[in-house]
Amino acid sequence: MPPTQDLLQEAGHSTHESEFFNPVPKGYQPGKHKYVVVFGTVLSGLGKGIFSSSLAKLLKDKGLTIAPIKMEGYLNIDSGTLSPYRHGEVFVLDDGLETDMDLGTYERLLDQNLTRDNYTTSGQIFKRVLEKERHGGYLGRDVQMIPHVTGEVKYMLRELAMKQDADVVFIEVGGTVGDHENAFYIEALRQLAFEEGEGSVCYVALTYVIEPPALGEQKTKAAQLGLKKLLEAGVQPNIIAARAKNPVEQGAKEKVAMFSNVPMNRVFSMHDRDSVYTITESLRSEGMDREVLTMLNLHGRVDANHEDQAREEWRSFVRKVVADRKHKVKIGLTGKYAQLRDAYASIEKAVEHCGAHLNAKVEIDWIDTTLMKPDDAAATLKQYNGVIVPGGFGHRGTESKIACVQYCRENNLPYLGICLGFQMAVIDYARNVVGLKDAGSTEFDPNSPDPVIDILPEQKKIEGLGGNMRLGGKDVLIKKDSLAEMLFADEIDKKTSQIRARFRHRFEVDPKYINVLEQHGLVFSGRHPEQPIMQVLELPDHPYFIGGQFHPELTSRPIHPQPMFMGLVAAAIQHANPDLAPEKISTRWLRPQKPKAPASPAAS
Ligand code: GLN
Repeated sequence: MPPTQDLLQEAGHSTHESEFFNPVPKGYQPGKHKYVVVFGTVLSGLGKGIFSSSLAKLLKDKGLTIAPIKMEGYLNIDSGTLSPYRHGEVFVLDDGLETDMDLGTYERLLDQNLTRDNYTTSGQIFKRVLEKERHGGYLGRDVQMIPHVTGEVKYMLRELAMKQDADVVFIEVGGTVGDHENAFYIEALRQLAFEEGEGSVCYVALTYVIEPPALGEQKTKAAQLGLKKLLEAGVQPNIIAARAKNPVEQGAKEKVAMFSNVPMNRVFSMHDRDSVYTITESLRSEGMDREVLTMLNLHGRVDANHEDQAREEWRSFVRKVVADRKHKVKIGLTGKYAQLRDAYASIEKAVEHCGAHLNAKVEIDWIDTTLMKPDDAAATLKQYNGVIVPGGFGHRGTESKIACVQYCRENNLPYLGICLGFQMAVIDYARNVVGLKDAGSTEFDPNSPDPVIDILPEQKKIEGLGGNMRLGGKDVLIKKDSLAEMLFADEIDKKTSQIRARFRHRFEVDPKYINVLEQHGLVFSGRHPEQPIMQVLELPDHPYFIGGQFHPELTSRPIHPQPMFMGLVAAAIQHANPDLAPEKISTRWLRPQKPKAPASPAAS
């Protein structure tokens, strides 16, 4: 038995007799679970998330069970309070955790739902340690960064391995080696390899080879210094992935290899590519997956059939991504590009998935509704083939968003409303079809005379969520013979007629107004299975007009694109090519009947 297994079996508490502190969950089997750790060096913003999830996908494709975890250095307990302007979108997991966009990248690439165990922050770890301390959990010891905080990190990782029965726990450390805030993670991960023993942990260091334009050649000093920081922390990387603009040259690779003690066959060029979706295949063709399997003695657990099938499925998606597209459409998204691009990352991805599947190049234009007057809606929107009003908070720009919805509704322009965009559609309908001129939302006007959108804590109490945000995956009952039913045909649970969708909202349709809205033709085609909470709306006589109180973008995956986005892109193609037979676009995603003649034809 390797000495490290003794360590794992005997240790557990640090007392004055022993300096070892390896809290190990009960039943943990040493050697069963392996660990891959990705560190960033030199600088952030190198695409560590996309690289890590691509490598994790490669391993998953081999039939291995992967439990990814993103370890963030910040002290926030979760991402719920982070501004999207600073930190990109808040990605909501099915279990309701508000996390960051990197978890979205993992979910999309692994095509796997994650949970709150797949994400942690320094704040969460310190909270656990401090709570334990208050409960006398450290047997009279002074509580220290080492061994207690680091011990908590190792415990969490082993617990994750067991809970998700992982062949590989795939750890991505946030930030860059050298940051104060992630230093204890690095130390914990160093200890993890020591305790788990050889062949259990594989360290991958992402680095950056600079090519200053004035020199026109690749320079490795920054990479060397970055990697040295990792070595100083006691971590000998096993694999190096060198980001660069152009393929990393042999000489540069040699220098990197030589200064970091990593053999050449484990130094990989991770240069820029046209599509991030090609990363997995190129990592594979260069053999990075094979090196990881070798380091971790995992070749025996590979399922070759699974791998062939997963690769073929992925390749067929990538072929669609890189192909020249037959159709071209333009979608207007109400939001500010410069500030909000990352805030709407999942929407961009969802549109990208659907464009590839429907053979359309989809251009997204950003419409800043805070600068636009409501009267300008027609002039602004006439160039588009579809419009998305995404989620949002606060009143700025809402009148113009409502004007955009009205324009889409009256001009047969395909419309997808997401969360706030769903609520905007209800307000437009109440005002301009039902005739409740002052209809509004109490989010923007607490004294609204007709608050069709309101905060309804009593509804949420029924769900046990108090007056707070309604968060995470919930069931949605889909109406028979609706557009929603057609779109979700492959996802609807046949027994319950339900789908699952992810929510993040406080306000909703006030049930008092449901009847009058429906009497005037608005169809609520998705509802809470028991409560009068409206979750999907649509218009039967419109080519494509749909809204979700949830966030459909969060569940779109490259090989399982989200149906409401597929419907939107298909309808947008039809809008751009009114004379094209629907079969030439999609028989699956377009409604069979021809739409009625437009009230006032939209220019295209
Ligand atoms: N602000 C709205 C609400 O809280 C919409 C939220 C959202 O779009 N995510 O209900």
